[in-house]
Amino acid sequence: MALGEFELIERFFSRPSRRRDVLLGVGDDAALLEVPPGRALVAATDTLVEGRHFLAGTPPESIGHQALAVNLSDLAAMGAEPAWALLSLSLPEVRESWLARFAAGLYALADAHGVELVGGDTVRGPLVVTIEALGFVEPALALRRSGAKAGDLLYVSGWPGEAAAGLAALQGGTAAGVADPLVVRFLYAEPRLALGRALRGRATAAMDVSDGLLGDLGKLCRASGVGARLDLECLPISTELAHRHERDACERFVLSGGDDYELLFTVPPERAEQLEADLRPLCPLTRIGTIEPGDRVRCLRDGVETAVRGGGYDHFA
Ligand code: ADP
Ligand code: MG
Repeated sequence: MALGEFELIERFFSRPSRRRDVLLGVGDDAALLEVPPGRALVAATDTLVEGRHFLAGTPPESIGHQALAVNLSDLAAMGAEPAWALLSLSLPEVRESWLARFAAGLYALADAHGVELVGGDTVRGPLVVTIEALGFVEPALALRRSGAKAGDLLYVSGWPGEAAAGLAALQGGTAAGVADPLVVRFLYAEPRLALGRALRGRATAAMDVSDGLLGDLGKLCRASGVGARLDLECLPISTELAHRHERDACERFVLSGGDDYELLFTVPPERAEQLEADLRPLCPLTRIGTIEPGDRVRCLRDGVETAVRGGGYDHFA
């Protein structure tokens, strides 16, 4: 490598910590981190592989952003305060301009949420980016997938499906450049950390939509031992999506698209009105169904049960 491993880390991935709970950050054998009393440590990790999670030619800023965003989304889904991240980087070669842009994308998102990079690993190999994000939450308030009860109302945040449509536009060559709003949603989706925190103690169950709303709803139901009714006519379809695709295609993007980092959550009906009033200023919220007894996810269109395609993404299927 033109630039040695040590210089590379020094140059791109170490800077004075901005958090007082980082007792020791990059540079020693391991980081020393202080978890506030009464909180549980929340840990999540996700890996992005070139050719599988992002295409060759993806802007390096976006790879840095996405690698952290996908992890912060998992912390959001737990209701956690994000604090620290570790970065494992496998690089085929050292290209300083690539590294500078990658680090800029990663740090921009980290700084937006007060997250400090406290360590990692750097090796030569195919382009693979693994981040581990760490945060904390009062254990009794952590949002889990397992608390949904029959009768709870089912909500989703924001505009699921836009990122998948952005990816489809990139792959199909129909994107209106890098400023195409759907492409931007794909390359720079924002994790819903503020919403996750606001749902603590209010949502009975929550998860982030990463493999498609329909498939992920199935996972939430399995974890909670319940079924659900999904009202297709209630699905949020953004103006941009509706403008670009037929209703059918929009629904498919919403039901099976991942990468938007929206949150799917359940709320007891008696808490719903207040929750909507309190959380609407944070982001759009749409009620899309109801939790039911049983173990099936039923899709209804105007009250009539309908078969829909739209399983989630499974690496081993
Ligand atoms: P060791 O051989 O003990 O694993 P390394 O040389 O791999 O040490 O790492 C030295 C220091 O640099 C450690 O504190 C490690 O956490 C940090 N580090 C290595 N790679 C990265 C990276 N890509 N991003 C952030 N910190 C890194
Ligand atoms: Mg190492």
